[in-house]
Amino acid sequence: MRIVRSTGQMAALAARLTRRGLRIGVVPTMGALHEGHAALIRAAARECDAVIVTVFVNPLQFGPSEDYQRYPRNLPRDVRLASRAGADIVFAPAIAQLYPKGFAARIEPGVVARRWEGRRRPGHFSGVATVVAKLFHLTQPSDAYFGQKDYQQTLVVRQMIGDLNLPIRLRVLPTVREPDGLAMSSRNRYLNPRQRRQALALPHALVAARSAIRAGERRSAVLAAAMRRNITTQPGVRVDYVAVVDAATLEPLRRVRGRTALLAAVHVGRTRLIDNLLVGVS
Ligand code: AMP
Repeated sequence: MRIVRSTGQMAALAARLTRRGLRIGVVPTMGALHEGHAALIRAAARECDAVIVTVFVNPLQFGPSEDYQRYPRNLPRDVRLASRAGADIVFAPAIAQLYPKGFAARIEPGVVARRWEGRRRPGHFSGVATVVAKLFHLTQPSDAYFGQKDYQQTLVVRQMIGDLNLPIRLRVLPTVREPDGLAMSSRNRYLNPRQRRQALALPHALVAARSAIRAGERRSAVLAAAMRRNITTQPGVRVDYVAVVDAATLEPLRRVRGRTALLAAVHVGRTRLIDNLLVGVS
């Protein structure tokens, strides 16, 4: 396991691996690693010859009133987890390595980034796409691993890979959940025990909506209203949005059809959580 801190060293190392004809898998993360990240790293280790985990809390993707400062950081712990899951390299650059003074370029992902998370978090997906493009250049992956947990992000990355003709296979892995159903997230550690219990309203509302669809309900308005109701049964939880959308375009559906995504974002105290489920309707 190697820890790499500079862009120059990372690029040189990736070039050496590529020259040897190795398949490089990259797992971009913001650190505070958990089992969800470990699942991505293990998949990369199964499918690739060399696995690079990037750990970088990307200031470009945080809004001014978001949690950039308090986002959890613990590199030694991340390195241990990444290594145990099968990483060969942890690339953890300092901010000045990726964004030296005067840095100004941005990737604009377009329409797929505008709704839902993009509307609530202006600039977020441009920040994500910009850092992911830089990390791809520096690590030269054949395969890139992302979690379904951040579903809209996977569509943004897919769009960018296509539009920029990047020779990278995008792998999206299922959301890893706690035994009680809460999606694992680095932000879960902000929750106190009471909020942690209240947060379960989020996955419960999604699962209830999926069950209703499987039982024949097709009206999105009915499903969305039920999701809202289910979430607000918990006093400490506030709905940011719930949506029933086409899984490929994220456009709202009047009636559920084809591959459908159920999206939800909530606030539990000061903590913002997102989750989603995909449902196939024939
Ligand atoms: P983050 O460190 O939160 O930026 O996440 C890094 C990558 O891990 C992203 O592709 C996330 O979608 C993915 N990820 C985060 N949480 C989970 C989870 N519970 N299950 C699967 N993937 C996840």
